[in-house]
Amino acid sequence: MSVTPKIFPDLIKVISETIEENAVEVTNLDKVCGDGDHITNLQRGLQALSQQAEEIAALEWAQALQKIGMTLLSTMGGASGSLFGTLFISMSKATGDKGPLNQQDFADIFAQGVDAVKKRGKSDAGEKTMLDTLIPVANYMLNAKDDSIEQADFLKNISQVAVEGMESTREMMATKGRASYLGEKTIGHIDAGARTSQLMICAVVAVLTTTGT
Ligand code: ADP
Ligand code: MG
Repeated sequence: MSVTPKIFPDLIKVISETIEENAVEVTNLDKVCGDGDHITNLQRGLQALSQQAEEIAALEWAQALQKIGMTLLSTMGGASGSLFGTLFISMSKATGDKGPLNQQDFADIFAQGVDAVKKRGKSDAGEKTMLDTLIPVANYMLNAKDDSIEQADFLKNISQVAVEGMESTREMMATKGRASYLGEKTIGHIDAGARTSQLMICAVVAVLTTTGT
């Protein structure tokens, strides 16, 4: 992959559009299992990123990821603000001074970001959170890095794993975050953060697929 931080304005735009299109659905999910503010938290973060998109595009990977993380942390609020912020700040740390990043680098960096979210949220797979989307995607990317898989298939599989992970939260009982207070009442509903994580991952895949990077 010859992708550089110059892709961020496109990514932020397409992610924002996807989140906008699915705003009502996500709000309803977070109303059932949480307090209904997840989408507005995320929209606040994305709006701040849109304003900084060109600045971010001019940075090196580590600085770009750090700026994204800090912006999400300072603008979003909610549990998801600190968790998405942690994801990007930890990805920045994992990047260090690496220059061009290949598929294997992206897999390692993303996996380290997801590990930091687990630590920050004191949570793991199966607890009906965003991690049920993020962990399977990280695992798929780590396992696929040794295969000589075509990039188009690699990207398609990432989307599929994200959708399956998101769907898997439907039958789970929430044991972390605000939703955990509702216990069994959360069974039968998809977790809002798992859904937005999947939507964002699929948006990134769509951009990378069309640009052919
Ligand atoms: P809040 O729960 O503070 O209102 P949001 O509504 O923005 O924050 O985000 C809720 C989402 O955050 C949940 O749907 C879930 O995916 C995720 N989440 C909450 N707590 C945790 C946690 N401890 N670990 C991982 N993800 C979490
Ligand atoms: Mg909420």
